[in-house]
Amino acid sequence: MAAAQVQRMSRLMAKTLRDDPADAETLSHKLLVRAGYVRRNAAGIWTWLPLGKKVLDNITTVVREEMDAIGAQEVLLPALLPKDAYEASGRWEEYGDLLFRLKDRKGGEYLLGPTHEEIFTQTVKDQCTSYKDLPVMLYQIQTKYRDEARPRSGVLRGREFQMKDSYSFDTTDEGLAESYALHRAAYQKIFARLGLDYRIVSAVSGAMGGSASEEFLAPAAAGEDTFVDCPACEYAANTEAVTFVAAPVDGSAHGPVEELDTPDTPTIETLAAHLGVPASATLKNLLVKVDGEIVAVGVPGDREVDLGKLGEHLAPAVVELVTAEDFADRPDLVRGYVGPQGLEKVRYIADPRVANGTAWVTGANKADTHARNVVCGRDFEVDDYLDVVVVEEGDPCPSCGAGLKLDRAIEIGHIFQLGRKYADTFQLDVLGKEGKPVRVTMGSYGIGVSRAVAALAEQSADDKGLCWPAEIAPADVHVVAAGKAVQTEAALDAAEQLRAAGLRVLVDDRAGVSPGVKFTDAELIGVPKILVAGRRVGEGVFELKDRRTGEREELPLAEAITRLT
Ligand code: ATP
Ligand code: MG
Ligand code: MG
Ligand code: MG
Repeated sequence: MAAAQVQRMSRLMAKTLRDDPADAETLSHKLLVRAGYVRRNAAGIWTWLPLGKKVLDNITTVVREEMDAIGAQEVLLPALLPKDAYEASGRWEEYGDLLFRLKDRKGGEYLLGPTHEEIFTQTVKDQCTSYKDLPVMLYQIQTKYRDEARPRSGVLRGREFQMKDSYSFDTTDEGLAESYALHRAAYQKIFARLGLDYRIVSAVSGAMGGSASEEFLAPAAAGEDTFVDCPACEYAANTEAVTFVAAPVDGSAHGPVEELDTPDTPTIETLAAHLGVPASATLKNLLVKVDGEIVAVGVPGDREVDLGKLGEHLAPAVVELVTAEDFADRPDLVRGYVGPQGLEKVRYIADPRVANGTAWVTGANKADTHARNVVCGRDFEVDDYLDVVVVEEGDPCPSCGAGLKLDRAIEIGHIFQLGRKYADTFQLDVLGKEGKPVRVTMGSYGIGVSRAVAALAEQSADDKGLCWPAEIAPADVHVVAAGKAVQTEAALDAAEQLRAAGLRVLVDDRAGVSPGVKFTDAELIGVPKILVAGRRVGEGVFELKDRRTGEREELPLAEAITRLT
């Protein structure tokens, strides 16, 4: 527990506001500003005022304790990063406008880190040389930078924000699965301790690449993610993890997959030659494949894919082609199929297997022909499709057929089994047991630490204001001096005794502020317990109030202290 302290409201650098900030759209944004937790500097850029900093630190502490508990080691990498590592991984380009880029006085190019897979890979390559050095799990709690297109919603979506990011390094797939499981369990503990209501759902890999991936979502109206939840089975998925259509094409059910006739691993050149287009061609239309199975139907639309760029990713992969006939006898699966007019009528259905999503690209010249092994989110922007994602309430669960529920949620954490993507880029090998080099396999795991403040505010607030879970609150008890000098003196004395008993105390000792205003502020600020020094302090009687339930009782100070400790 943090060292006990008394914070006097008369000295607190924070003003409560009666009115919502004009630009605020979400409850957490309004309340965190009104209660004096944060202050906006510019779009998506925030100052953490004393109360806000305390909440942020409390969350950080929980995250740190649980990461330490699974044996992850804390480090701190720079946020200002040279371009070359991100150029090597391809993300300098892929991230596009999301990256904050800058130049130094000599013209050298840099970026402000949006996430750190590249730099951690390089770090481990430097430090670990033998299988004996692995597995290793590293984490940091650090400021991240993303030039978000729509930095609304207060600290929910910052352009500068705090993230806990960790990375695991293993020599075997089983090792990676174990590191992933450890993180998953740690995240469950963290979010439970934070008092967050959350779900674990299947997710696409997004710009990270790689395969297995799950998100931790906190249901809230202000959330920018939509997820489907099955009331009858375990199934839950982010609608981002949704495929156009699920249509397994395994040869037997749907006719043969057309294979490229090539002696070696097909490359983009082989594919381009087969399609009869230049290797630099731009192709239209996308389909999705999942988990070794083709699960997509062609969506003739307006999306273009740069074949040249695709080529880098295709090189080590086996390219196969299938035709639209493969799906012809499965009209049930072609929900969402849109005609050549475009994407506006696309219907998506959620599919758990899309965690391993692979996109398909149709060859523009060869009607309805699709190339396998394009990674969804890596080779095209999933976000481009978000506006047209439509999973309707009541759609059949892909797992059990029951009617799906649809809800909004905030993404508070995300775990990935990256595999060898970054290890391949940076040739991260260690010397194996047999004396031969072994390529390392990685996982990456993020928690939105600053976002969690807003998520907690969203989930716990009521019509009076913020209402923090105990472990996260900026104080354990909010003492209110409701009256004149006698009350103030009694309140300060009580605050001191509570502090001595090990509690974190906020005391409203402001002169010239009416009890009514102080009560309203106490409710707005949302400390779980409120202790009022009011009319009966002369007899040594205080009022103890529970912020959430509103229950109150009068009692002597000593008893209040016993109750609170
Ligand atoms: P989102 O879908 O909300 O844009 P993301 O999928 O891009 O998030 P990740 O790359 O998975 O985010 O990053 C790990 C975690 O960092 C997320 O789960 C989220 O909690 C947090 N995070 C991401 N972007 C932001 C942001 N702009 N502001 C605050 N927290 C963020
Ligand atoms: Mg994002
Ligand atoms: Mg996301
Ligand atoms: Mg994510």
